[in-house]
Amino acid sequence: MSEPQTAGGAAPVTGVPMGGRVCVVTGASSGIGQAASVAMAGLGATVVLVCRDRGRGQNAMAEVGAAARGGEPSLELADLSSAEQVRDLAGRLAGLPRIDVLVNNAGLVIYHRQLTADGLEHTFALNHLAPFLLTNLLRPKLEASGPARVVTVASTAHRGARLDLDDLQLEHRYSAMLAYSNSKLANILFTRELARRLDGTGVTANCLHPGTVRTRFGQTGSAWLRLGIAIAAPFFRSPEQGARTLVYLASSPEVSGQSGGYYVSGKLREPSPTARNDDTARRLWDLSAELTGLS
Ligand code: NAD
Repeated sequence: MSEPQTAGGAAPVTGVPMGGRVCVVTGASSGIGQAASVAMAGLGATVVLVCRDRGRGQNAMAEVGAAARGGEPSLELADLSSAEQVRDLAGRLAGLPRIDVLVNNAGLVIYHRQLTADGLEHTFALNHLAPFLLTNLLRPKLEASGPARVVTVASTAHRGARLDLDDLQLEHRYSAMLAYSNSKLANILFTRELARRLDGTGVTANCLHPGTVRTRFGQTGSAWLRLGIAIAAPFFRSPEQGARTLVYLASSPEVSGQSGGYYVSGKLREPSPTARNDDTARRLWDLSAELTGLS
């Protein structure tokens, strides 16, 4: 087993074999999710790509297949902003022989406030409620496959959050970055509470900030955000570098049994004080269960 190396300041490259492991990755048709899928397939994992668009999903699956050193990848289609589609997806994934790693990666930022088919604010629904619901529905499968890992892609943007539990839908004051920051704070609070609930089950939950990465991210943001990203993009990490902390958390024996952490560049880091508030984490969990109809 090779020692972890750090390249481009991004995170360790684990090189840890993942043969026989089944990894489900949401948002696998571009950016960090696709790069992580390619990397894990190259380590021997069997990757299940969860994508919204069939054509882009098939293209990504071809790339993952070309890198695969283990089982053949497969594709599952779902619009994760819909609770019904998340439930259908979970039902199909529950039919897999096992799930060793669930990667909650799909996410976006949206310029104007939009509602999903379920009448929920889109950013919060996709970035937080979808991983919340999918993970909970797959919990029996993950426990049966244990030791298993849940890895959720959060962001340092959580530090700009102003989460009001009485206005999760941002009906009173919407801005794209506030909605995004709140959803990424929710990812960390979710991970914290999930880790507490999973204690002793053999399933761990961790989250990460991938760095600032050159992906399709921001393309649904404002013209200013897109211009800013275009100017700064040459200085961003590549998707492969951005995927490293994710792959590290999915595969490394160094984090085996570690749970509830927030990682940056392969290192455990303290997130914001709000992200470490267990009472807020519990209250958000209960509200999320209500909003997703989870009993
Ligand atoms: P990306 O836009 O390339 O990838 C996002 C993925 O989510 C895409 O595959 C997209 O198809 C998928 N997705 C979006 N809406 C969906 C829906 N309704 N149903 C199913 N899938 C949907 O961007 P990325 O940068 O690779 O983003 C991946 C994750 O990384 C996100 O959670 C993002 O918040 C996080 N992140 C990115 C950066 C960065 O600098 N790029 C920084 C911090 C965190």
